[in-house]
Amino acid sequence: MKLLAATTNRGKIGEITRILSVSGLTILSPADLGLQLDVEEHGLTFADNAVAKALAWHRASGLPSLADDSGLCVDALGGKPGVHSARFAGAGAGDRENYELLLRLMEGVADRRARFMCVVALALSEDTVITGEGQCEGVILTGPVGENGFGYDPVFLDPGSGKTFAQLSDAEKNEFSHRRRALEALKLKLAEQGII
Ligand code: IMP
Repeated sequence: MKLLAATTNRGKIGEITRILSVSGLTILSPADLGLQLDVEEHGLTFADNAVAKALAWHRASGLPSLADDSGLCVDALGGKPGVHSARFAGAGAGDRENYELLLRLMEGVADRRARFMCVVALALSEDTVITGEGQCEGVILTGPVGENGFGYDPVFLDPGSGKTFAQLSDAEKNEFSHRRRALEALKLKLAEQGII
């Protein structure tokens, strides 16, 4: 079976390939197919967006297509930035502007609990979309720490390691990331349904 990993992020394609690799499954990227697609994210949930992206890529490629959507949900902010994580500080805002806005909103807030969430969706056909969900619990710091990663990594403390996601290497983070957990959950469902 051929599967399109519908992302242009090389890191994500590598992670998807590592986690989902089983014999008989060939994982392709949009570049492998010469495809380009910009799917707008209007959904109210990560699942809505992941399913919409997976279906759009499936229609464009004719292949089973895997897409994901992820973001940070902060308890004291009622789950924000949520599906708006990438553009929290406005369209075109960078990672730093986004986490600086978050830190301002969290000034003086005692409850610092938050979680990264990810939903991956595999569109096998127009009517069959299988999803997997993963979460990572953590705490929002009062300032950035660490140089690695992206997005909100510098302000998100992983209580297990006592480090921010920006202090972990990619390999360390990928061991237990929300994306990893979502892909593992999807893999389990695919195996249970005899698809892989
Ligand atoms: P996307 O699902 O790749 O579009 O990610 C949405 C946004 O959520 C990113 O732009 C980041 O701001 C945030 N985000 C998702 N996953 C992570 C992560 O692992 N670390 C830091 N930020 C993340």
